[in-house]
Amino acid sequence: MYSIALDKEASVEASLSRQGAENRRFWDVRFIRDLNEWELEEGLHFLCTLGAMNPPLEEEDRLRWKLKPNGEFDTRSYYNKLRDSPPNAFPWKGIWRVKAPRRVSFFIWCVAWNKILTGDNLRLRKLVFVDWCIMCRQCGETVDHLLLHCVTAHRLWSLALRSFGVSWVVPSSFHDLLFGWWNWFGKLSSRIWNLVPLCIVWCIWKERNRRTFEDLDSSGDQFFASFSGTLFDWSRAWGLTSSDSLPSFICSLSLL
Ligand SMILES: [Zn+2]
Repeated sequence: MYSIALDKEASVEASLSRQGAENRRFWDVRFIRDLNEWELEEGLHFLCTLGAMNPPLEEEDRLRWKLKPNGEFDTRSYYNKLRDSPPNAFPWKGIWRVKAPRRVSFFIWCVAWNKILTGDNLRLRKLVFVDWCIMCRQCGETVDHLLLHCVTAHRLWSLALRSFGVSWVVPSSFHDLLFGWWNWFGKLSSRIWNLVPLCIVWCIWKERNRRTFEDLDSSGDQFFASFSGTLFDWSRAWGLTSSDSLPSFICSLSLL
């Protein structure tokens, strides 16, 4: 059919005409000659196909980006297509939808991408130093060790979870933890809970830097007090708690 089209470059808009009192549009496709008898069946099929595809909206012909429902191009959908990964493969809700200070969310975003300057990442930058974790003074410092599996970090996670009355199995990576953590208690009761990973990681990182650069160690109790105080401050700043003291705030967590 295309070979006998009158205008092979015709747009959709140019191939639609108006007719009747309601000004309805219909397809107006023209050929350079009448159809031969043996072409009638194919021509009928072509016109039926077109008739079933009458554009419902009147708008200008334009390019549509198929990867977005609204047809608008954006770099995120293109990037996800290039990576051939599902669009929700990154736990962004557990980072950017949490009522934490922005600088903390940005830091956690770097953690989730394994881009903070832990020992392994510093060595990738050709820095030479002793391969150890200053928190436990044993094995090498990686993101997942420092923030999850190190005995110091694990103790803090366990104490924090005990406050909520939750027991857990340590996930293999911080990335996985964020996926499983978000809205654990449901959408309405998880607003303080969602703050916990960011708060713990922020406290561990500050403690790690105090030990590294100021040669100052906090005891286990001081470390937990730093975490619970920070969580209380953030929760109060966003109006997530009605408690007026830290002890009553800690008690209220188990009631979530
Ligand atoms: Zn360690």
